[in-house]
Amino acid sequence: MTWQHDDPVLYEKEKAEVEAHFPELRFVVENSLVYVRGNFAVMFEEQVLDHYSVELQLPRNHPTGLPVVRETGGRIPRQTDRHIIAADGTACVLLPDERWRLWPVGSPLLEYLTGPLHSFFLGQTMVEEGHSWPFGQWAHGAKGVFQFYREMLKTSDLRVMTTYLDYLAAKKVKGHWLCPCKSGKKLRDCHFDQVKDLREKISRKDAEKSFTTLKAAGTSAIEDPEANPPAPIFQS
Ligand SMILES: [Zn+2]
Ligand SMILES: [Zn+2]
Repeated sequence: MTWQHDDPVLYEKEKAEVEAHFPELRFVVENSLVYVRGNFAVMFEEQVLDHYSVELQLPRNHPTGLPVVRETGGRIPRQTDRHIIAADGTACVLLPDERWRLWPVGSPLLEYLTGPLHSFFLGQTMVEEGHSWPFGQWAHGAKGVFQFYREMLKTSDLRVMTTYLDYLAAKKVKGHWLCPCKSGKKLRDCHFDQVKDLREKISRKDAEKSFTTLKAAGTSAIEDPEANPPAPIFQS
């Protein structure tokens, strides 16, 4: 099933809002998938600063899933330090784990375009002009996951971090489990509320994915980008 058939009212609403705000974008349905294509205007101080040719592919479970975004003008190099996944050319617009903060489930699609997607392309223009990423975003891949959870959990301990992620990905958490913070206490006597709060914000699937990413990267995820000049610090 596709969302536009299940909820034609939502489809019309998303389309009307997006096309009114971005007159050079249009909704297209192909093979029962909804795409948003055209020229994406990047604004700065109320003026159009730049344009990007884009394609957003909305997932079948929109608005629960995230759009798949491609820059179709061939302008952004397919490099991880530009947050483009080389293998398929898709843009890494936001870390799914951080979605609750940037574009919570249920928000209008327009807010994705004017929010995280706009920041992404404004950042690309600034990087193209020789600036560093302007929004203090996370690095790409495992390092970015590490940076995000370091901020969320206030720890640089990879072991603590992956235990938290394991609990976030679990079907259920039990109060008698050991707290991931290494206090030696049971979860119910320690960080149970924090774990519950995070489980409401971050989906099990996203936590599972980040768990796998961190496990696969191991300590290379922790590597401090600042320890590696002259590579520019693309803090995502
Ligand atoms: Zn990225
Ligand atoms: Zn604890």
